[in-house]
Amino acid sequence: MAQHTADIVIAGAGLSAALAALRLGAAGRVLLIDQRPDPLAGHTWSFHDGDLDPAQRDWLGPAVRRRWNGQDVRFPGYARRLRSGYASLDADSLGAAISGLPGIGRLTARVASVDATGVVLADGRRIEARIAIDARGFVPHPAIEVRFQKFLGQEVRLTAPHGLTRPVIMDATVPQQDGYRFFYLLPFDDMRLLIEETYYSDRAVLSPERQRGAIADYAAAQGWRIAQVDREETGVLPIALRFDADAFWKAQPPVPAIGLRAMRFHPLTGYSLPQAVRSADLIARHWQQGPQTLALALRRLSLHEARAQGFYRLLSRMLFEAADPDRRRHVMQRFYRLPEPLIERLYAGTSTLADKARILTGRPPVPVGRALRCLPETFKVKPA
Ligand SMILES: Cc1cc2nc3c(=O)[nH]c(=O)nc-3n(C[C@H](O)[C@H](O)[C@H](O)COP(=O)(O)OP(=O)(O)OC[C@H]3O[C@@H](n4cnc5c(N)ncnc54)[C@H](O)[C@@H]3O)c2cc1C
Repeated sequence: MAQHTADIVIAGAGLSAALAALRLGAAGRVLLIDQRPDPLAGHTWSFHDGDLDPAQRDWLGPAVRRRWNGQDVRFPGYARRLRSGYASLDADSLGAAISGLPGIGRLTARVASVDATGVVLADGRRIEARIAIDARGFVPHPAIEVRFQKFLGQEVRLTAPHGLTRPVIMDATVPQQDGYRFFYLLPFDDMRLLIEETYYSDRAVLSPERQRGAIADYAAAQGWRIAQVDREETGVLPIALRFDADAFWKAQPPVPAIGLRAMRFHPLTGYSLPQAVRSADLIARHWQQGPQTLALALRRLSLHEARAQGFYRLLSRMLFEAADPDRRRHVMQRFYRLPEPLIERLYAGTSTLADKARILTGRPPVPVGRALRCLPETFKVKPA
């Protein structure tokens, strides 16, 4: 029997769904359905100040755990402080922000299918609403070719202050293996920090035991003694090399979709929080006009972004296909010597024509012939 318990039912209660619920606030009753009882657990999501506009930073504010002025990058023989602000949300801060909202309901169940006005659960029950949204995360598709940013991180408490005052978004001074390898550091307070070992890799597999050892070795090399590991997180994020958005959307049902389910992520950095924030704004603007209007608005935004992101997919191809794995660090180091406003616009996905020309000109850090072969975004097998 159908149950009608909410204005909006969202299948999947990860980042994009939680942000949509936060953005709607008291404006509508939202039911979040996830197969996992604690879908936000084990995540830290970060963004650069320039990724969002002031109004977006404002409504996201209650979910932010920590904000910093500036961030560092480190390469062999070259370190740089970037002025750009950085902020992080985690399961506790985002969970607390939405649990205080009056209209939010939760259900732990596996969703079998989603249509415009409801979901069918794996046990056959149907839940109806004015609008249903699909936010069930990434599913591989022949219209997108990806590689991986993969990591294992530990939030640790040290025996003495670590001395960091801002995040180190890349410490690439470490030996290179399995692609581009670096450590990512978020200093939450004087004694506590997240240490993540990260790879831009051709392979999606993690090696948890080895990575835990690498984190311990890295901490020891900084002179830090770990008193306690409070939690661990892992991730394998898609990095897009080729995406035929028209073929992808032609095959999708006319249901509002957000997050990685809608392939909404930065092709080069793998970040998806800014896209999820923009989707949340769009939902708040259009949900009362019904599912068709909302689905169309979200689809238009996705297609527009996918077309505008072609340059970043080209850079992903340069990194993964033109550069040998052990030369990827060289490509990144060259990029981080460029002017800071250009770097900020690349993070935000708003690079200008002049930025693109600047990134591609000069002595190429990859073999010219291989770089030229990367230029066209042609699939080896054309998606249907
Ligand atoms: C550890 C980690 C750190 C990250 N850090 C950043 C960052 O710093 N900045 C950034 O922008 N991005 C970051 N990302 C990338 C990106 O933000 C995440 O991938 C993000 O969670 C994607 O949001 P989403 O809502 O699309 O999918 P998810 O958050 O993956 O949520 C999808 C949810 O759907 C549920 N689900 C799937 N199928 C079903 C089903 N059939 N029935 C019911 N439920 C279902 C899943 O259980 C899951 O909870 C990180 C990712 C990870 C894993």
